[in-house]
Amino acid sequence: MSFDVSTIKADFPILAQQVNGQPLVYLDNGATTQKPNAVIDAITHYYRNDNSNVHRGAHTLSDRATSVFEQARKDVKGFLNANSSDEIIWTKGTTEAVNLVAFSWGLQNLRMGDQVLVSHMEHHANIVPWQMVCEKTGAELVPMPVNDDGDIDLDQLNGLLSENVKFVSVAHVSNALGTVNPVQDIINLAHKVGALVMIDGAQAVAHWDIDVQRLDCDFYAFSGHKLYGPTGIGVLYGKADLLNLMTPFMGGGEMIETVTFEKTTFNTLPYKFEPGTPNIAGAVGLSAAINYLNSLDREAVASHEEDVMDYALAKAKQTKGLRIVGNAKHRAGVLSFVIEGTHPHDVGTLLDQQGVAVRTGNHCAMPIMERMGVPGTVRASFALYNSREDVDALFNAIEKIRMFF
Ligand code: PMP
Repeated sequence: MSFDVSTIKADFPILAQQVNGQPLVYLDNGATTQKPNAVIDAITHYYRNDNSNVHRGAHTLSDRATSVFEQARKDVKGFLNANSSDEIIWTKGTTEAVNLVAFSWGLQNLRMGDQVLVSHMEHHANIVPWQMVCEKTGAELVPMPVNDDGDIDLDQLNGLLSENVKFVSVAHVSNALGTVNPVQDIINLAHKVGALVMIDGAQAVAHWDIDVQRLDCDFYAFSGHKLYGPTGIGVLYGKADLLNLMTPFMGGGEMIETVTFEKTTFNTLPYKFEPGTPNIAGAVGLSAAINYLNSLDREAVASHEEDVMDYALAKAKQTKGLRIVGNAKHRAGVLSFVIEGTHPHDVGTLLDQQGVAVRTGNHCAMPIMERMGVPGTVRASFALYNSREDVDALFNAIEKIRMFF
């Protein structure tokens, strides 16, 4: 199978529009990706034909809704190569998945004197929940240092690891800098001191195959909307033996076995962590996104994305007054930069006027912005439908705005 970016682009109807009189060049994929027809059609089909509540009905539509919903879980299991569908918990997204682990596992297991390590480049979603739980338990949140290039130094990490460290939570790919972290090394090192490891895969899953069994991570989280699927659906993968020992942090219907006023006993996995009516259409849409990706040659997709990234980096390096923020050894999907004498927000607005959509600001990662000495950046982030032409459009637009500064 080969890869033709114009064929791929045609699968995404939103991209065929003009914005401010210019063809849309969508480079805000780190925030959310666009959706192919396959995903839009699957959601529409579900609402037109199968909509009902899951696991409840003694009727045909409910059976159908349950069956597509559980099939979606199996698709995610296959996508992550989990050992069992019971290890796949539906959440709203990465944020809820981290909160689930921080509150369920953390409140139960963390004590005064314990440490939780997160890297200096984490998204707030992988800092704040841990901070909240550390405050409640007396544990300490310790940032793993990041060097000037935006890489984690494994020797420094090793120096931080001790038997006090009970949990390590780290991004697979940084949304602010694009750094691909050496998660396999981090997992191996953390396991040596007996710490559990969670990987925030929000920015990674769209780029390569993930194999949670090979990684041997204890938890892995991602959001559907960054994987060409809908918003409001995400996944927590957890090893079954750990999930079985954890007490749910949210209660309600569906997650119980029996309820009396004296005591509630919980349902089995995965339902014990899924109170209330889930986002059924979201799961259907996410499974369509996974099937769409699986229908492509993912190695060809990855090399196309690398080509676009390298092309963008080379152009950035040739652009006068542009400073790339983060020069990680291994990078995926994200180019963060500032332009001398300009504010990122102004650059973003002027690029938008030329049809180029980027994100500006701190990217919900204030600690790493401070570490890099910038209040924020302009971030171009790439997906499989972006091409070298999109990169040219970005840099042509940057040249045009020089006159304003
Ligand atoms: N972690 C990372 C690395 C992210 O990029 C994001 C989204 N920008 C999140 C967590 C949070 O994801 P969501 O908002 O979908 O819960």
